[in-house]
Amino acid sequence: MTLPKIIYDKNLKVLMDSMSVSIFIKDADSNIVFMNQACEQAWQVNFADVMGTDGGQLFPSEQQAFFLAADKKAFAEKVKVEIEEWIWNKSLQQNRLYVTTKMPIYDALGAPLFIIATTQDVTERKCSEARVQRLTHLYKALSEVNQAIVRMSDEQQLFPLICRCAVEHGGMQMAWIGQSNSDNQQIRPVAKYGQHLDYLDKLVISASADVPEGRGPVGSAFRENKSIIINDIDSDPTLSTWQNVMASCGWQSVAAFPIYRNNQPFAVFCVYHDQKDAFDESAISLLEEMSKDITFALANFDREAQRKNDETSSRLAALVYETSSEAMMVTDASHIIVAVNNAFTEITGYAESEVVGLSGVILKSGKHDAAFYQAMGHQMRLTGKWHGEIWNKRKNGEIFPNRLTLNTVYNEDDSVKYRVSLFTDISQQKQDEEMIWRQGNVDALTGLPNRRMFHQNLEQEIKKSQRSGLPFVLMFLDLDDFKEVNDSFGHAMGDLLLKQTAERLKLCVREFDSIARLGGDEFTVILSEVDNLKGADRVIEAILASIAEPFRLKDKQAFVSVSIGVTLYPNDASDADNLLKNADQAMYAAKKTGRNQFSYFTKSMQEVAQKRMRMAVDLRGAVHGGQIWVAYQPILDLKTGHIVKAEALARWTHPALGAFSPAEFIPVAEHTGLIVDIGQWIFEQVILQVKRWQQVYRTDFQVSVNKSPVQIYNKMSRYASWGHQLMQAGLSGKSIVVEITEGLLLDANEVVNKKLLEFRDASIQIALDDFGTGYSSLSYLKKFDIDYIKIDRTFVSHLSPNSDDLALCEAMILMAHKLGIKVIAEGIETEEQQQLLIAAGCDFGQGFLFSEALPADEFEQFLLKSSGLKTSGWH
Ligand code: C2E
Ligand code: CA
Ligand code: CA
Repeated sequence: MTLPKIIYDKNLKVLMDSMSVSIFIKDADSNIVFMNQACEQAWQVNFADVMGTDGGQLFPSEQQAFFLAADKKAFAEKVKVEIEEWIWNKSLQQNRLYVTTKMPIYDALGAPLFIIATTQDVTERKCSEARVQRLTHLYKALSEVNQAIVRMSDEQQLFPLICRCAVEHGGMQMAWIGQSNSDNQQIRPVAKYGQHLDYLDKLVISASADVPEGRGPVGSAFRENKSIIINDIDSDPTLSTWQNVMASCGWQSVAAFPIYRNNQPFAVFCVYHDQKDAFDESAISLLEEMSKDITFALANFDREAQRKNDETSSRLAALVYETSSEAMMVTDASHIIVAVNNAFTEITGYAESEVVGLSGVILKSGKHDAAFYQAMGHQMRLTGKWHGEIWNKRKNGEIFPNRLTLNTVYNEDDSVKYRVSLFTDISQQKQDEEMIWRQGNVDALTGLPNRRMFHQNLEQEIKKSQRSGLPFVLMFLDLDDFKEVNDSFGHAMGDLLLKQTAERLKLCVREFDSIARLGGDEFTVILSEVDNLKGADRVIEAILASIAEPFRLKDKQAFVSVSIGVTLYPNDASDADNLLKNADQAMYAAKKTGRNQFSYFTKSMQEVAQKRMRMAVDLRGAVHGGQIWVAYQPILDLKTGHIVKAEALARWTHPALGAFSPAEFIPVAEHTGLIVDIGQWIFEQVILQVKRWQQVYRTDFQVSVNKSPVQIYNKMSRYASWGHQLMQAGLSGKSIVVEITEGLLLDANEVVNKKLLEFRDASIQIALDDFGTGYSSLSYLKKFDIDYIKIDRTFVSHLSPNSDDLALCEAMILMAHKLGIKVIAEGIETEEQQQLLIAAGCDFGQGFLFSEALPADEFEQFLLKSSGLKTSGWH
């Protein structure tokens, strides 16, 4: 059995039930599928008792046949059919005249679906129509206004007409209609016609019998609900108050007739005649007829207004119902679905025919626990209402979120009649929320959790571990050589590699382990519930091996590896921040030992890290606090043995911790960016010194200054170029050699190129430091105009005749010379090393054999002593 789209919103249902018009609906087989309360009442039947039947038991068989024929006709002709029939009204126990409108409804294919019928009791209307008819006969003279009466819609039009008719055609001197005011104290004229109308201006008529003004014909008619006829005004005692005035108007007779509305006295129709005994039986009956007609007309007006009201309401209801995007489902007290609307079908996928008669639990998603439904049921029992978000299930099994409002329609005895569910599908909204969440928590490139979510996960993991007592492992991963991939293949390829990395990582861990991308080429892995670090070994090995496999990036192939730092909770740290720091330190330690390595976090790592942190803080104040100073190490021309250059080396004397090696604090200065200021300060010192030493020692004296990549890359430097600063000091560019590292050339780009050219333009020479330790490449030497290479001390320190290192040094020197580059050997500590280097053709030498790095004044003493000159002292 199917139900049509009926208003089951609680309010609309109530509305339909409040309509005086009977509404019932039949299906294509003329079986009743819906009735409103007016209909149930008129036929004295419960909808439930006739639901699904053709209603045959309610009517005599010929009548039933007539109704069914009308249904057939409506369906067949596809038109609205109107039938008029006297039907026995069981509640009123009388025959009433009903007009029934039957509207056929079809489905999309044109097959008959329903008949929506509205039935109206028109008995009164028909009777009053008969009366108007009679009026027409009785007052032939009123023919011109008859039509008007029928067409009238309210008393404002009707009352003046009646008064005019009484005077103009009924032979009365004056006629008026009075209505009581709102508090029923006085009766005031609302329509009047005829002579001496000013009489009414002075007239006071009370509705109460306690005063003389209330005891006249009008007051009496109003109160006593009967016609009052006075055929001799002069002799009537009830008229004492008005007798004189009436006489002056020339009136001899007066009659008053009550008019009713809603079965209540509403107004009084009053007429005056200039003759005694004017109101004979026929006149009285005529005038009574007239006042009854007024009463009928008023009732008619009200019904018409009500009908219009109902019509608008029902049209509104239907509109609301049909256009509603909110799904509506009505269940009875035992949760059986009795109706659903269109939107319900759209949202759930269930046609009404599939669900009506079934239990509402078909929508249950299984996503909420029993407690949820218990709380809901509890509130429904208490308040009859519930509102909230709930997961339901569509016909296709899909689970979707709804915003649901539940309401209850009660029977008169306060038992539940219907539960009305109104709901909207908020999947889209949820999706939007999820998208917003994703944007904040998921890395767009790899789909992995981002830094933010990783932090949340880590906190979660800590809590979980605290509960279970099982440790977990945190790994910090950083790709090696990723920058090269980006630089040589472009960012799109770099992105591709990161994506593939994410996929590979997923394959290396267990389902419940979590991977995140913190940004760039940094990833983290959390291994849940791992008993000890050994448990992580298998995963670490798998990751190292997996990432070391070549990456196919479209038509290119790339090789990278990964460095992994590993830490264990709760052994290594007790909170997320420190845990992450540990993993990060361990990762750096792994990087230091080379590529494709892992390192476990250790306490000593932590100490180093803490020291670095302390150093970073202290270093900030060191530059201005005069703790940084410059030491100079002499560089000799190996052929002549003369000191021709010096290398400026930074020194930091910490007031509490003593001297720090530059190998310790320079990386910190680089990391924090402080190197820019430190470098500038050193350069300023060097300018002063080199100027002085060129004056007191030799004019071509050179000082070489180490310049870190951070300084080169620092585009925002507020300092003038070194060339410019030298010029300002009146020094030639040749006074300075800039020592750069091979790494810088490896990364070479625009900025580096530009900087090197600037040096060249300023005649500042360039030395390639620590040569031989990195990716030494001759092509770099050719490409960038290098003046010196400095052979790293690791080669020099192992120099012995016939050693590999000697061969390497010889080769380096030979090649450098071929390219027009001079060679400086670092770290010469022995006579033998010096001799071997001289024999190999090395140009310059530097090392403890000659001197370690010295403070400026000591260095000057050393210079002058070596050259036999005497210092002129300090200024
Ligand atoms: P570097 O540029 O290779 O400097 C040479 C290092 O070798 C110096 O160490 C020097 O004291 C040391 N050295 C010289 N001769 C010998 C020797 O015969 N035997 C041994 N074992 N070592 C010798 P230092 O002063 O500790 O500097 C370490 C590093 O710190 C430098 O290596 C350089 O890379 C960096 N550095 C020092 N000063 C500065 C600076 O002002 N700026 C920048 N950016 N880096 C600096
Ligand atoms: Ca150096
Ligand atoms: Ca060096």
